[in-house]
Formats: sequence, structure tokens, C-alpha cells
Amino acid sequence: MKVYKFGGASVKDADGVRNVVDIINSIDERVFVIISAMGKTTNALEGVLESFYNDQKEEALAKLQTIMDNHNKILANLYGYPYIPKKILFFYQELENIITVHDPSNRRYEMWYDLIVSYGELLSTAIISDYMKSREISNRWIDMRTCFVTNNRYKDANIDIQTSSKRLLKIVNSSSEPVLIGQGFIGATLDGVTTTIGREGSDYSAAVAGAILNAASVSIWKDVDGILNGDPKIFKDAQLIPELTYVDAIELAYSGAQIIHPKTMKPLQNKNIPLYVKCFLDKNKPGSVIKKDIEKPIDVPIYILKHKQILMTIAPKDLSFVLEEKFADIFTTLQKHHVKTNLIQSSAVNLSLCIDYTRYLDEIEKEFEAAGYSVISRPNMELLTIRGFIEEQAEQFETAEEVYLTQRTKQILRVVRTAGQKA
Ligand code: ASP
Ligand code: MG
Repeated sequence: MKVYKFGGASVKDADGVRNVVDIINSIDERVFVIISAMGKTTNALEGVLESFYNDQKEEALAKLQTIMDNHNKILANLYGYPYIPKKILFFYQELENIITVHDPSNRRYEMWYDLIVSYGELLSTAIISDYMKSREISNRWIDMRTCFVTNNRYKDANIDIQTSSKRLLKIVNSSSEPVLIGQGFIGATLDGVTTTIGREGSDYSAAVAGAILNAASVSIWKDVDGILNGDPKIFKDAQLIPELTYVDAIELAYSGAQIIHPKTMKPLQNKNIPLYVKCFLDKNKPGSVIKKDIEKPIDVPIYILKHKQILMTIAPKDLSFVLEEKFADIFTTLQKHHVKTNLIQSSAVNLSLCIDYTRYLDEIEKEFEAAGYSVISRPNMELLTIRGFIEEQAEQFETAEEVYLTQRTKQILRVVRTAGQKA
């Protein structure tokens, strides 16, 4: 058994779907396929959610119509005539119902998020499964909400691998189809309430499926040649890294490299399952592989840029700085609001944190103020990490005018700066 994962870009239109189906069809062993929402559907559904949550129901329905039109267009192109499979009509109706029937103030934002945004993956997988059947490629569509059990941390749920294991194995072992198709990104609580596991989480879904099924390998199909030493859209002369260890990959993903979701490596490392990153535009290209032992260590600097950062500087108003004692309070507050901290730097009188953008910034600031801290937040920042930096380069990055904070270890240089700088 192998696991293949296809991201949104690979199924953004009918040609993409055909290509993905050809790749799946060319494998001669059993395959479990994890697929994301088509193209930018997840963003579009987030738009529907915003309107719904602000009680702009008409606007939400209009946005939903655009999403349905996009999917219908892909379907019509795939079949050569207007056709909407039953399951798709059913999902459209469920979405319309959620918007029209429910009062958004009845549930927390995060719960609505999962309920609405999860349909992107339900739609894409159902369309692809049906289309494969129409081409007589035997496959089974699996609703991952019945397999992946998560906690109830909505919008950022964790998969309970042990409980999920039993459920997934039962379904896989009781079916005979050579191709199994499931959604990335989604799951459900034990009570059956839909959850999502964080943006770009489909890689993690694929890794968990791979670990549970003891897959021979997991392949993530992307629109790039493999893992490069920088985002080619930002860093010129980006080079392919053919082999990485799990630890290399975890560090890269943690620093914000948009190659693979940071959680992906652990389940695979535990079972020593290799992870391939392949290009869906040309399946014969070698790509990159992440595994336990590699022959040649990485010998190029790696550039990682993390967008949408806030630099927050926190200082006790009374200058009573026994910082260590205050750390726990500060992080408890951040944890409560699900804030991701990417860099920490302390001085005698303050603590600087580079955090992911959060919609709760105002609340967090108020809580810190109430607890006796003064807070300065600088939004619109970005965090550049260079692993294996070259000394001559370092200074140029550190001294640029837009830089607010730098941090250095022997191996790693990190720079917090105003967003939108040239690499
Ligand atoms: N569709 C979700 C997203 O765009 C999950 C994923 O693609 O991994 O974030
Ligand atoms: Mg996606």
C-alpha cells in the first residue's frame, strides 16, 4: 500500500483532475489517496464563513454560489455535458442549509469554521471519486470524518491516532477496491462534530494515514520539482535538495518553509516511512525524499520566509523584571488564544515575541495590560530564517533598515523585519 497526497493546486481545474487521475491510475499497487480542496476553494469558503458569521446571509449565499459554479464548471468539463452527481448536490444543499437556517451566534466562530470550510475537501474528493468511476477505475470514497477522530480544538484539531487507527483499518480491510480516496484536513470529534486540523493540514492527514496503514511510502504531489532551498517565487536560483533527514525536514517546516506541514514528519519518522515530494506536472522527475539516513548532507543555505507575523514586545510596567517568573503567565495567555510563537528573545526589561497573525490581538493586549504589562505590537512583519548561512551574507541581512530584531546561532540566522522586503 502506498499513500498519495494531492494538494489544491493539482486539482484546480478539469485538466488537473484528469492528470491526477492518470497518476493514480498508473500505480500498480493499492493506493490510499488524500486530496485537498480544489484550487483556492478553502479561501473562498473562509469568505463564506466571514459573511455568515457577520450575519450577512445573502452575501454568504452569493459567495457560495460562486464556489458551486466553479465546481459545476469543472464537472461539465470532465463529463462533456452539464452534470452534477447526487452527492455533490447533497453537499451543496447542506451548505445552503447551514447558512440559511442557523443563527451564527449559537456557536463559536471556530466551530462554524470547521462545519463550513470542511466542505471544500468533501466536494473535491467526491467529484474525483465519481469521475474515476465514470472511467471505470474502481475506487472507494471514504468520509474521513468517520475515520479520523480528533479532539475538539476546532480549526486546529489534533488527530487521536490510536482511536483513528481502529476505524481506518476497519474500513480499509473490509474493502477490496485498489484505490481508496479520502479528504485531507478534516476529521470529527468522538461525538461526530466536524473538525479541521489547520490550514495546509492535508499533508498531516496523509502522514497519519500512511503511519496507520504501514504504507511503503507517502508521496506528496506538488507543483514544484521537490524540496528547494528557498521559495522560487521569492529567492532566485533556488536549488533542489534531493535528500533530507526527518530532522532536517522538521526544522525547515517549523521555521515556516511552505513545503510540508510541520506536523507531518513525526508519524512517518516513528514508523520509518519515507516521504517523497514529487512534481505532478511531470511525474518522471526525481523529486526529493525525506528519510532516516541520507548519503549527502545538505550543503546549501536554506532560506525560509514566514509571512503575516506580529512582533510583540512585552514589559512589566513596574520594571520588576524577574523575567523567568513571568514567562509562565505570558505563555499561558498566548496559549489560551491559540497563538503560535515563532521566535522568543528576552532582555533585562522586556520580552520580544514574533507570533503568527491572530484575530485576538486586541484581547491579548488588553489581558496583558490588565496583568500589569505594557505591550507594543508591530503587525505587518515577516520572519526570515537562513539555515546554514554564509558569514558574508549575514551582515547584509542583519543591518538592513527594515530589520527590528535579529537572532543568531552558529547555524541559523533569523531576522524579523517589515513585510515585503526583497530577498
Ligand atoms: N484545503 C486546506 C487548505 O487549503 C487544507 C490543505 O490544502 O492542506 O489549507
Ligand atoms: Mg490547499
